[in-house]
Amino acid sequence: MSLSLKKTPIPEQDPKIRTNNFSEVALGYTEEDAATEAARCLQCKTAPCRQGCPVEVDIPAFIGHIKKGDIQAAADNLKAVNSLPAVCGRVCPQEEQCEKFCVLGKKGEPVAVGRLERYAADYLLKNAKPATPLKYAADAQKVAVIGSGPAGLTTAGDLAKMGYKVTIFEALHMPGGVLMYGIPEFRLPKSVVQAEIQVLKEIGVAVQVNFVVGKTLTVDELMDEEGYDAVFIGTGAGLPYFMGVPGENHSGVYSANEFLTRSNLMKAYRFPEYKTPIYVGKKVAVIGGGNVAMDGARTALRLGAEKSYIVYRRSEKELPARAEEVHHAHEEGIIFQLLTAPIEVLGNEQGWVRGMKSVRMELGEPDASGRRSPVEIPGSEFEIEVDVIVVAIGQGPNPLIQATTKGLATNKKGNITADPETGATSKPGVFAGGDIVTGAATVILAMGAGKKAARAIDAYLKEKK
Ligand SMILES: Cc1cc2nc3c(=O)[nH]c(=O)nc-3n(C[C@H](O)[C@H](O)[C@H](O)COP(=O)(O)OP(=O)(O)OC[C@H]3O[C@@H](n4cnc5c(N)ncnc54)[C@H](O)[C@@H]3O)c2cc1C
Ligand code: SF4
Repeated sequence: MSLSLKKTPIPEQDPKIRTNNFSEVALGYTEEDAATEAARCLQCKTAPCRQGCPVEVDIPAFIGHIKKGDIQAAADNLKAVNSLPAVCGRVCPQEEQCEKFCVLGKKGEPVAVGRLERYAADYLLKNAKPATPLKYAADAQKVAVIGSGPAGLTTAGDLAKMGYKVTIFEALHMPGGVLMYGIPEFRLPKSVVQAEIQVLKEIGVAVQVNFVVGKTLTVDELMDEEGYDAVFIGTGAGLPYFMGVPGENHSGVYSANEFLTRSNLMKAYRFPEYKTPIYVGKKVAVIGGGNVAMDGARTALRLGAEKSYIVYRRSEKELPARAEEVHHAHEEGIIFQLLTAPIEVLGNEQGWVRGMKSVRMELGEPDASGRRSPVEIPGSEFEIEVDVIVVAIGQGPNPLIQATTKGLATNKKGNITADPETGATSKPGVFAGGDIVTGAATVILAMGAGKKAARAIDAYLKEKK
């Protein structure tokens, strides 16, 4: 039988139904789907797909186990190197990572590595037995991990498996970082995130929430007074950027960060069962074209908006969001107002948003990012009537630790300067990785940085001992 050139499709909720609920859009492979897709993998000896995986998953090996029907072995294989496979299987941009290098991609579609990863990881969650607590030496060295996003969780998991006593310090009341407060339930159920974190707790990682490093205690206090031998900083890029246009301070303008945190972490979509309210009005404009913008627009629709716009200054081709997210947004009826840039937020007499003055753009020469830059068309001003505006044009580094830690070098944008291979910062014993170093990036790159830092911290602590 010849191999299919196409990926086995993943069952999904019907767009007309799913816009009325917050349940997951992609339902996951059945046993039969997984077997069919795993059979497409050629088990290449050179495994080019592996070079695209920052956390070093042995892709042919885990898919080989699925081929043989041994899903537990596939899951064990994943979990040995990746603390968050059920998360990665859902939100990792595989098309830019492992799948980009898959040999099948030359003639047709690559193996659906992400969907298979999710299938095996979900099997493990469904059949979960508590993990065996690891045994730590009485004189095991202590590591403080600041921030519980994918970078911090990976560093913590890897170091715990190496025998270090790890405590994660998290500012919010739930661990998970963007996985909990940013990415919506319909793409990444929060129960999945917490289940993967639970395994880390079971093997012995301590998690202290509501602990703001830089306020509750500083990095120097953790090291000098609390006896931590090394520190990893994975505090992410959670500082929202605004457009800087007149009228942006009207009521009804949210940062994407606030809008999504209210809905996801504070569960405003289940108001009044949960106490956090969220105002969406009838017409919502989300400014930006990345994953964050797609999440904002799709969330607004589910919260009851009649019209939800993506307002982006370039064309569809330049949208930075994952193709799958753009496809889902189209299916759900999001209106793409492309080649458009807001120049003023218009308010009513009570100070609430009533609309947005915008200009039309055309594409000019490529800029430093290689994308054609948007150029304003003179005299093209027009108004869009909206009640709520969500600004999703990017985030900067959380600044508190940089401001309160002596001897920690940063770059012009305020990101912590760290060696890309080890995460070592300018301060001895302090390592950093993820969005706080690179600027807003992806889950898997943050995890890759956490993995490299864990190895470097291990080497540093062995030397110190
Ligand atoms: C809405 C949204 C959707 C996204 N969608 C995708 C996607 O589909 N695929 C993808 O790959 N990537 C996606 N990303 C990007 C991805 O989530 C991030 O790149 C990734 O989470 C970065 O991980 P991190 O560990 O560096 O930081 P974060 O996940 O930001 O975690 C940092 C943690 O540190 C905590 N913290 C900050 N300061 C302190 C302090 N002083 N003391 C204690 N704790 C502190 C924060 O509360 C937070 O929990 C998305 C991002 C957003 C915002
Ligand atoms: S490159 Fe593709 S076909 Fe080859 S081992 Fe990797 S996933 Fe399988």
